[in-house]
Amino acid sequence: MKKIIKTYKFKLSHLRKSQERIINSWIGTCRVVYNLAKEVKEESYRKGVSLSNYDLHKQLPALRQEFEWIKDVDSQTLQDACDRLDKAFKSFYKGGGYPKWAKRDQYNSFTLKRITDHKDGFIKLPKIGWLRYFNSRQFPKSAKLKRATITKELDGYYIVVMFEVNAVKPINILSDSQCVGIDAGITDAFSLSNGTFIKNERFYQNNKEKLHEAQHKLSRMQKGSKRFKRQKLVVSKFHRKVARSRNDWQHKMTYDLIHSFDFFAIENLKLKNMTKAVAKGETGVKNGRKAKSGLNRELLDVAISSFYEKLEYKAAWNGKTVYKVNPKNSSRECNKCGHTQKESRDKKYFHCVACGHSDDADTNAAKNLLDRALSKLVKTCEQPL
Ligand SMILES: [Zn+2]
Repeated sequence: MKKIIKTYKFKLSHLRKSQERIINSWIGTCRVVYNLAKEVKEESYRKGVSLSNYDLHKQLPALRQEFEWIKDVDSQTLQDACDRLDKAFKSFYKGGGYPKWAKRDQYNSFTLKRITDHKDGFIKLPKIGWLRYFNSRQFPKSAKLKRATITKELDGYYIVVMFEVNAVKPINILSDSQCVGIDAGITDAFSLSNGTFIKNERFYQNNKEKLHEAQHKLSRMQKGSKRFKRQKLVVSKFHRKVARSRNDWQHKMTYDLIHSFDFFAIENLKLKNMTKAVAKGETGVKNGRKAKSGLNRELLDVAISSFYEKLEYKAAWNGKTVYKVNPKNSSRECNKCGHTQKESRDKKYFHCVACGHSDDADTNAAKNLLDRALSKLVKTCEQPL
């Protein structure tokens, strides 16, 4: 599995006075070691001897023997001070400025090359012990914590943690036929980026008109009347039947999908109205027209999200990947040239006004979702330090 290196920065909290003292004194010691190393390097250069970073590392134990206060600092942390000087000289050899003396107000950090332990919001470092930080983001599950740099800044102390993490499923081993984008629509329940469609479940399709009729009838009845109550029961039974058959259908469809593809790109749905729609129930509409645009649309969203939910947990069980992307303008963007314009879409057809590319509108949208997911994935894998 490919590994990538990442860093997170956190602000330290609840620092004990004793820890603050250690941090300040280590920063000071590292600054002195940096300047000492610079001096030694320049001195030997004048004598015609060029000291490498490794040579400087070798002198550190003697230095620690000589000065008690240097001994307190973790040996790898001292090596890191030499590494920094080495970097400064390397940059100078490449045409950068000559390395300056480390000044008190500029040299404000040190690095520990190992992290002894970690739990939520706490990191344990050699000789310093447990440090607490503002837990602003979680490490990925596969993260192996490698090193930490502590910096003193104007508003407090920070910790920069470098960690190694497994690259997300290596996409170069996925062939096109293993990846699919799924666009949820109204006419065809779902459109796939390979040009196929998953039609609405037959039960709903066959009984849709009857259901609408029953709902419409109910909406015209006197609320609370006997006939209203009877009709309400008819409608809710209908809904229950639809819900059950839809559930079965969704299980079948997601099963088929999971066994046909390895990588799925779906819309990141914003379902703020979802719970409200469920709570309102099927009688929360005043007239038929409103039902079509309002509540039915919301119920459809509920259906879509429960479809995606099934897809997601089945994917997790089967070691497949579901990637959610922002669907904004995905139906207006040309999958071939990237041009985005409302006029390119005419209901079921997509015809790019810029390049002339044409496709089924929902297929085009599904392809866009897949492309967005894949490009996002590539970015995650390549993210630099
Ligand atoms: Zn185009």
